[in-house]
Amino acid sequence: MNADTRRATYETLMTPLDVGSHTLRNRVIMGSMHTRLETESDPIRKQAAFYRERARGEAALIITGGFSPNDAGLLEPGGPRIDDAHKALELRPICDAVHAEGSLICAQLLHTGRNARQDNCVGPSPIRSPINSRIPRELTGEEVWQTVEDFAVAAANAQAAGFDGVEVMGSEGYLLNQFTVPRSNKREDEWGGSVDNRHRLPIEIVRAVRDRCGSDFMIIYRISAADLVDGGAPAEEIATLAKKIEAVGADMINTGIGWHEARVPTIAYPVPRGAWRRAAANVKQAVTIPVVASNRINTPEIAEEILASGDADLISLARPMLADPHFAKKAREGRADRINTCIACNQACLDYIFSERTASCLVNPRACRETEFSDTPTNNPKRIAVVGGGAAGMAAASEAACRGHDVTIFEAGEKLGGQLNLARAAPGKSEFDETVRYFRTQMQEHGVDIRLGTKASVDDLAEGFDHVVIASGVTPRIPDILGIDHPKVASYDQILSGKRVAGQRVAVMGSGGIGFDVAEFLVTPVETSTQIAAFFETWAVDGEFATPGALTGDPLAPLADGRKVTMLQRRETKPGKDLGVSTGWILRNALRKHGVEMLGGVTYDKIDDAGLHITMGGAAHVIEADTIILCTGQEPVRELYEALCTQGVPATMIGGAQEAAELDALRAIDDGVRLAQSL
Ligand code: NAP
Ligand code: SF4
Repeated sequence: MNADTRRATYETLMTPLDVGSHTLRNRVIMGSMHTRLETESDPIRKQAAFYRERARGEAALIITGGFSPNDAGLLEPGGPRIDDAHKALELRPICDAVHAEGSLICAQLLHTGRNARQDNCVGPSPIRSPINSRIPRELTGEEVWQTVEDFAVAAANAQAAGFDGVEVMGSEGYLLNQFTVPRSNKREDEWGGSVDNRHRLPIEIVRAVRDRCGSDFMIIYRISAADLVDGGAPAEEIATLAKKIEAVGADMINTGIGWHEARVPTIAYPVPRGAWRRAAANVKQAVTIPVVASNRINTPEIAEEILASGDADLISLARPMLADPHFAKKAREGRADRINTCIACNQACLDYIFSERTASCLVNPRACRETEFSDTPTNNPKRIAVVGGGAAGMAAASEAACRGHDVTIFEAGEKLGGQLNLARAAPGKSEFDETVRYFRTQMQEHGVDIRLGTKASVDDLAEGFDHVVIASGVTPRIPDILGIDHPKVASYDQILSGKRVAGQRVAVMGSGGIGFDVAEFLVTPVETSTQIAAFFETWAVDGEFATPGALTGDPLAPLADGRKVTMLQRRETKPGKDLGVSTGWILRNALRKHGVEMLGGVTYDKIDDAGLHITMGGAAHVIEADTIILCTGQEPVRELYEALCTQGVPATMIGGAQEAAELDALRAIDDGVRLAQSL
């Protein structure tokens, strides 16, 4: 079988695998994710619905979000824990729901150590994490042994609740990882110093869990395959730890990449697909038990390629399981083009979690809201017109058609996608192509009449439809400034759709999400943005994963760059302040590395041959620029809606047409799906 045929059928990905005394029906694992569903009302029912849907979608094994084995291990007060035998039994409906769909489920045991955001914060040594203001209290030797016991008790509690096993979390810079390296472990007792002593805690925990839970209970150890921090472990120590973990009874090793405090992006869209496979391959070479590859694997094609090449035995998908719970089933059925692909934006998963909201997904608003949406067909089918083939319009049309409505979508341009076709031009954001592909195939499958190159008029819509959905989107805002019509001025949509950027000196007016994307576009050659080698070079990652921490230098070191870019905004606030928590730091650092200047608190005076004239701090300045790009927000396009209302045609506006401010794909898709549910 040649490589292309194998990929089309995903033969390796779909091959069952024995892990310990269990058989996994395929090689797709749902990786651990914190959802915050446990903080909602009726949490067990909602978690059962969430995990059941992923099991129904044929993920062979589900690993839950982390449960702490004791008080000190909690990430935050009131976080999930599994140290009470009686309370742990309340989790049984979650296990039953997953088992009923033919999948396995393991509980992740997570002790956060010095990353804890609560006052009982402990660690191997009293060394503060750069991402936590708390200095951890050093655990006594006795307390470390108690921690071993706590893990064993937690595993036994999980077993009694019906879990098939546990994943012992040893990566991402949490407690067990903290013990393994001198960066955070300066101890001189039996838990620190030599490599054996630093590895003792994870080894003793796996040994204790095996002793307590017996041979049929699955034990997965999540190893840090690349720490990506100064003073991180070298490859030989990681391989040694993996061997010891196997020797004391683990059934499988999962791989984690990068401590949370690392300054290298590990999962967001700037990371090319499959970037970390070599780190998993290094671990696999050290052991005979199955090894799992994880992080930035979001299609069956890349998953199959990694497995078929022998780099790993299984694939862990976390966010892609939010985006499409039926990933594995669709891959098995040869319907990979129907998979709703995770675009690695982090906007509705990690960014929600960081702002203490329950996770969801930008491309799939149903994620973690399984009990809110209906999948039953409508009993009142209507003829629906959708105007605009951008994110909001496509989401509304495909959802309405799925529910049994007769849908026609009008798009004035020659292709679907709207603003997504601009966003996709930013480095790393070509993943948006998958979103357009997903909605297009959904619409085709459900019989939507797609009319491209068709600007719908009031006459087209006034008759023949029961309801009109206006998703006509936005148009770039052109600020009223002297010289705005100078030939050196271009708007972001012109630049992102291919207009040549003249000269090497560029001023970007507006420092919102689009201003940052445009600046990134100006300094990063698009052709290198999906190349793993170029990504590693930019962020000083050792492609062989051999150096300590897998770094070759300072990830934030400046890069040589030809173009001089200046970003501006009128507000005094820090430029980029409102970018997503989990991606903003990457964009800000990437631009700083390229020497992009960011100016706040400016007043725009005029534009002329010299460039952009501004006032800042009471003084006049000229930003000498060959090109000036407007990223100054958007205005809604809603003339058609107003005309329809005048004629009494039932219509609803969604997305940017309804509210241009802070419009993004997240709100657009959510608007579209929710409106279609209500029709
Ligand atoms: P935005 O984030 O609202 O930023 C608009 C920028 O234009 C601001 O810097 C604003 O700053 C400036 N501005 C507004 N009115 C102006 C005027 N009349 N004259 C001059 N400057 C003006 O909007 P956006 O950048 O267009 O992005 C649209 C949406 O997409 C946002 O919700 C954004 O969050 C989202 N998005 C996010 C990302 C990301 O997180 N990576 C990427 C792309 C888009 P001042 O008023 O201070 O000058
Ligand atoms: Fe993926 Fe973005 Fe959805 Fe998170 S919100 S699961 S990163 S598509």
